[in-house]
Amino acid sequence: KEVVFSAIQPSGTITLGNYLGAVRNWVTMQNEYDCIYALADLHTITVRQTPAVMRKNIIDAYASIMACGIDVEKSLFFIQSHVHTHAELAWALSCYTQFGELSRMTQFKDKSAKHADNINAGLFTYPVLMAADILLYQADKVPVGADQKQHIEITRNIAERFNGIYGNVFKIPDGFIPKNGARVMSLQDPTRKMSKSDENVNGCVHLLDTPEVIMKKFKRAVTDSEAKVRYAEGKDGVNNLMAIYSAVTGLSYEQIEKDFDGKGYGDFKTAVGEAVVEELRPIRERYEKLVADKAYLESCYRKADEIALKISSRTMGKVMKKIGFI
Ligand code: ATP
Ligand code: MG
Repeated sequence: KEVVFSAIQPSGTITLGNYLGAVRNWVTMQNEYDCIYALADLHTITVRQTPAVMRKNIIDAYASIMACGIDVEKSLFFIQSHVHTHAELAWALSCYTQFGELSRMTQFKDKSAKHADNINAGLFTYPVLMAADILLYQADKVPVGADQKQHIEITRNIAERFNGIYGNVFKIPDGFIPKNGARVMSLQDPTRKMSKSDENVNGCVHLLDTPEVIMKKFKRAVTDSEAKVRYAEGKDGVNNLMAIYSAVTGLSYEQIEKDFDGKGYGDFKTAVGEAVVEELRPIRERYEKLVADKAYLESCYRKADEIALKISSRTMGKVMKKIGFI
């Protein structure tokens, strides 16, 4: 079976964007692939965290992802910081990654503009740690949202460079980006992607939002003055709502335009909100049960941590030997 690897940062409450862009595919891929998933907590400290909040976010994110349908009997779901090979391989690979190529990463440019008071070296070398995450497991496919395309590309480049020097050490992974929902935009600023760490909570639908909150956020979503539901250039807000609606219901844009012909944005926003509420309802219910049982959650990640260490140590050992460490 081919190996799938992906990870998500516990940098806040999981969003509808994370779900449609990545986690939904994590769930469906479980039946066909050997799936390895991680909570990328090492990545989150590239932005300053409050310790108590971070501890809570890690548990909440673990429970929410499981609630989306990750089956720990089928897949590995571990915590990155518990598996020391990730930091180790990241260091080694950083010596095979050029300053120039990291400088071209758009996420670094975006995040350093947003956190101008803390442009730390970890934020800059973030893609190297992500490459290590993926390459440790010899992954074939990496299900991610469209924003991670560039990071998958640099992962491939680093792996090819390393293989070019030392022979076939790493499998070259492919990104797996969904047709629908790959780039969910903020409901308040549809030119920017919806993000867990966004300060404007109204722009962002969280998996654990109550139905009332979800409906309110969609009703307030920014649109335009044309008052016609159609997908077109310059209609970022409506395009985003159509993309969400299409990703959740499976309806084509054509069908959506037909269904809402002659209706206003109010009706459309209500329909999108209701579709999202129904999609997220079972997830929130499962989450409430899971998060109440911390001992069970801990037993799940401890077991996965151990197996992940065993698998990743094989690659790490090979890397050390090839480089010349004794
Ligand atoms: P942060 O703001 O802290 O970076 P994030 O919302 O970008 O948080 P990540 O943990 O960085 O979340 O990414 C987890 C996964 O979710 C990745 O596969 C990423 O591509 C995907 N993803 C993130 N935002 C979106 C979005 N708006 N639409 C679709 N997929 C997304
Ligand atoms: Mg992100």
